[in-house]
Amino acid sequence: MGLYRDQGIVLRTWRLGEADRIVNLLTERHGKVRAVVKGVRKTKSRFGARLEPMVHVSLLFYEGRELDIVTQAEALEHFRPVREDLDRLAKAHTLLEATDHLAQERHANPRLYSMLLGALRALSAHDAPLLVPAFFLKLLSTEGFHPLLDECASCGERYGLTGFDLAQGGVLCVPCSTRGSDAVGLSGPGLELVRRILGGDLSGALGTPESPATLEVERLATRALEHHLERRMRSLPVAGALEA
Ligand SMILES: [Zn+2]
Repeated sequence: MGLYRDQGIVLRTWRLGEADRIVNLLTERHGKVRAVVKGVRKTKSRFGARLEPMVHVSLLFYEGRELDIVTQAEALEHFRPVREDLDRLAKAHTLLEATDHLAQERHANPRLYSMLLGALRALSAHDAPLLVPAFFLKLLSTEGFHPLLDECASCGERYGLTGFDLAQGGVLCVPCSTRGSDAVGLSGPGLELVRRILGGDLSGALGTPESPATLEVERLATRALEHHLERRMRSLPVAGALEA
C-alpha cells in the first residue's frame, strides 16, 4: 500500500454511486489503470473537468485493495481545438476506444502511451484524413502486425498488387485477390500510403489530402483493427461513413 505518481490520458469514465466516478487511464509507467475518483460529481469537486476523457493529466494515486484512488490530478493538456470540433472529437474518441481495447492493465507500454499522446497533439493541431487509420496501423504494429507489402501474401507475385488479405496479413495480386474472400481493395496509391505509414514516413503520409487512396487506407485500417479485435467497435465513424 502506498502512493505513486504518474501521467496519464483519460480513456473513459463511468459513474460509481452518487458522487464518485471510475476512470480508465492509460498511464506512462503503469499501463492501463482503473481508479476511483471520490466526490468528482459534487459541484465543488476539486477535480472538476480534469478527469474527463482525453485530458492529459498528472496524477497521484493511492493504492487500494481493489481499485486505486486518485488523490491529486493536475491537467496538463485539454486538447481544446479537438473538443470544439465534432469531427475531431469523434476521431479522438475512436483513438481512445481503440487504445482502451488494446492496452493491458498494469502493463507499462511507453510506446503506446507516446503514440496516443502524439496522435492527440497532432489532431489538436490539424485534422489529417489519415490520422486515425495511421494510428490503427501503428497500434496493430505494436501488437505484432507487420503486413507483407512488397509481394503477394499468397503466391509471392511482386507486380499488379491490388488487394489486401486480412487473414494472411498482406497484399494480394489480381488472381489471388479474386479467389480470396477476406480481401479488401487496395490500389497502387493506397498501398504506397500504407508503406509510408509503416515504413518511416508517417509525417509525410499525414500531410496527404483526402483522396480515394486515403479512403481505401481508412477502410483497410478499420477492417484490420476489427479483424484483430474480433469484434466490431461501436464508435468507428470511418466504417459507418464508408459503408453508407
Ligand atoms: Zn498472388
